[in-house]
Parts: sequence; structure tokens; C-alpha cells
Amino acid sequence: MEKTIIHDKLNRPLRDLRISVIDRCNFRCQYCMPADQFGSDFEFLPRSALLTYEEIERVARIFVHLGVEKIRLTGGEPLLRRDLPILVAKLSSLDGLRDIALTTNGVLLPKLASSLKDAGLKRVNVSIDSLNDELFGKINGRGVGTGPVLDGIAAAKAAGLGIKINMVVKKGLNDSEIIPMAQYCKENKLELRYIEFMDVGSTNGWKMDDVVSKKEIFQMLSEHFEMEPIDPAYYGEVAKHYRYKNTNVKVGFITSVSESFCSSCTRARLSANGQIYTCLFNGNGYDIRNMMRNGATDEQLVERIVSIWNNRRDRYSDERTAETNKHRKKIEMSYIGG
Ligand code: SF4
Repeated sequence: MEKTIIHDKLNRPLRDLRISVIDRCNFRCQYCMPADQFGSDFEFLPRSALLTYEEIERVARIFVHLGVEKIRLTGGEPLLRRDLPILVAKLSSLDGLRDIALTTNGVLLPKLASSLKDAGLKRVNVSIDSLNDELFGKINGRGVGTGPVLDGIAAAKAAGLGIKINMVVKKGLNDSEIIPMAQYCKENKLELRYIEFMDVGSTNGWKMDDVVSKKEIFQMLSEHFEMEPIDPAYYGEVAKHYRYKNTNVKVGFITSVSESFCSSCTRARLSANGQIYTCLFNGNGYDIRNMMRNGATDEQLVERIVSIWNNRRDRYSDERTAETNKHRKKIEMSYIGG
């Protein structure tokens, strides 16, 4: 199929698709799936509600036809979905797709990194918010120390996958880890991205006071390292990047709260149960699973996705205030993977 480029109401093209393959996770991080809300009686999606790999491939092929160049697999924890390399192999053979990456907590990478690489995965983003075992165990809500995640990073490296490290920074919780994480990543030549604590979903108790802004983090780093800015690599790049002077090691900032980037947001999201979201902060998605299961043709699916994107006006982070956060119903991050 020849590519068709489509734009939304704010003239933003569709370029990226984030696919959540599962809503379950083996961690209970406070900012995503807090243990007190996602306890043992929490009802996750039944297997029959999840898109099959064939359904995901079908939707992804249509998105690629409509301009998507990059796909990121997310969860929950995507490595919990059985036989994930089979999906990666299907997606990486899509004509016109430039990049396929995955966001993970890293714990299952020792088992899966090389088969994912063989299947065509290019990069992983590994989330780790502290190098202090006790604090990390508290943040992940499961008491898991940093060892399994660091082993996962080593396995990804050994398999030849590109690696970025994600650290969500919350004031009073792990801001003391900003410098140790920078030192560790610089020494190990890993790109670290600091992510401002966001008001995703409605269970993480977000307050503006808990946000450590890029400006504050940058100030702290400047006291220890010399850094130089790097121009964005492409339109819509989310992270703002710097390089430690005289090295090739990059450090990035995801400034969703302090410097929003909605004007160049080219991302669509597909939830594990086949709903399309046009913003991380949407309350409801647009169903595509039932359409497929009721026999929709490819042409009907194309028409539906074009119409969803053409009518998109989302710019939540541009408009964020304490009031919008309080009153808006938002999908939980564990359904659409951040
Ligand atoms: S708030 Fe929504 S529109 Fe803005 S950058 Fe985030 S996902 Fe994109």
C-alpha cells in the first residue's frame, strides 16, 4: 500500500504509534499502577479482550499506510505478554516502518533480549527510578532491588539492542537520585532521560508541587557536569537533549509539565483491548477491536482511523492547570503505556 499522509485539526501529521500489548505488570510503581489501587482483587482484562497478534499486525499495517514510521510496544509490562518476539517479527516486516522499540521495566530482558533482537527489535527503554535498592523497592511497590533491572540492561547490551534509561522524578521521593543516576549512565555510556512526574490517570495522586522541573534538574546536573545542547533529530522529537562535553553520551528531558510539546505531538496510542487514543490524557478511546471482530474491511478501518485523526484537537499539556487535572477523567497509564 502506498503511504497516505494525514493531519489533525492542528496540522500535526500521524507519525508514531504506541501499542500496549497487555495491561498487567509485575511491578506496582506509585506513579503508574499503585499497589493500593491495583491489589490482588483488581480485575485485569481477560485474555479474550486483548487484541490478538494478528489483529495488532492488521491495525499497525493500516497505521503505517497512514504515515506511522515508528512503533513502540508498551504495557503494562510488555514482556509479560507470551511470545512477544512473534509480534515483533510480524511488525518489523511491515513495509514502510523505520523503527520498532519497546518500553520495559527490564526484569525479563535476560530471558528475552536476544530473541527480541533476532525478531527485529531495535531499541529498548528501560525504566529505573533509583539505584538505591531500598528506595527502588519502595517505588516499584514489590520490594524488588535494582539487580534484576541492571541484569536486564546488561542483557540488552549483550544482545546488541540500543538502550535508553527512563527515570521519572518525583519531588521528595527520588530527587536525591538525580546525580547518582547521571553518574551511572554516563560511566556506562547509557542515554538517561529524566521524565517530569505527570498527572496520568487518576490514581497516582499527582500534585504540581511534586514535579521537579527540567530547569531544576538541569541546574543540579550543571553543578557536576558540563553539558552542551543538541538540536532535535526530527520533527516531533519528545526529549530535549544535551551531551556531556567531550563525550558521545546524551542526556534527555521529557518536559511534559514544564515545557509542553503538544504542538508537534504526532503520537497515536492503541490500548491492549483495541481502543485508539489520540492523547495520553484522553478519558475514552475509539473502538477498533469490535469493528474488526464484526467483519470490518480494511477500507472501513482506514476510513475510521483517518476520521479519528482528522478530528483530533488534543493538547492537554498545553492547557494543564490544577483544575483541568482535577475534573478530567483520564485513562490509566497501564492501559496505554505512557
Ligand atoms: S498532552 Fe496529549 S497532545 Fe500533548 S504531547 Fe501529550 S499526548 Fe500529545
